[in-house]
Amino acid sequence: MQADYHLHTNYSEDSTYPMEDAVKEAIALGYEEICFTDHVDYGVMDDADSGKPPKYADGHLRGNVDYPRYFEEIARLQEKYKDEIRIRQGLELGVQCCTLEENTRLVEKWPMDFVILSIHQIDNLEFWDGGFQKGKSQREINRGYYEELLRVVRAYKHYSVLGHLDLIRRYDPYGDYPFEDVQDLVEEILKQVIADGKGIEINTSSKRYKINGSTPDEKILKLYHDLGGTIITIGSDSHCKAHLDDAPKLQLIAREQLKKAGFTHHCTFENGEPVFHSL
Ligand SMILES: [Zn+2]
Ligand SMILES: [Zn+2]
Repeated sequence: MQADYHLHTNYSEDSTYPMEDAVKEAIALGYEEICFTDHVDYGVMDDADSGKPPKYADGHLRGNVDYPRYFEEIARLQEKYKDEIRIRQGLELGVQCCTLEENTRLVEKWPMDFVILSIHQIDNLEFWDGGFQKGKSQREINRGYYEELLRVVRAYKHYSVLGHLDLIRRYDPYGDYPFEDVQDLVEEILKQVIADGKGIEINTSSKRYKINGSTPDEKILKLYHDLGGTIITIGSDSHCKAHLDDAPKLQLIAREQLKKAGFTHHCTFENGEPVFHSL
């Protein structure tokens, strides 16, 4: 079963890839199922109908998914391509302790097949521009990231899987931080995820970001498995055609990494419920 459960399109502020082009490409690549997961990052971005003045970064307009247009377009494509591919509707939420309410209202208003919970920023400070890391030691950056994730998963339950669980590795200006120094926090996070019946993803974008090994790291995959975790999705985190074209071969590697960690199945989702497929 070939599926991609992390895809961005021109409904995300950081992608210009037309959604229909992504569908056609996924069909050409032989996928049976895909799930769109465009970006919502409350705190640093607003909804189109919020009435707030537009936010910019590097002169580029930043805003959350335009939900009515987004879900309408997914519905249109589901119908148009129903004999060729299953298309699921999802979002990737960048959640922070200070944006739990907005994120709850959102998922209650727009029921979805699948929701990725990611930590993209903390206290409205971004990782990608170094705002969060500024003035912090490596320990403060790494433990601060997992402490926020732990607080969020304890308080927020409207999601399916955690996105790129060790994302902070991508943005650590000091280089690799020893896993042993954050293992206690990662273990608490994974225990909470499992107790809540949620999952994690393997995100195959590692090579693109020059990260050694998998995302999350094989130590986290193994720990999740050994703690009893079974729900895991495979996603490319594609933002353009080139990313999507690279995805099938990266997915083969990811499947081997999952098997090595002890997993026998990966998941797709329908109406928020996992469906298991053998690896
Ligand atoms: Zn993300
Ligand atoms: Zn993403």
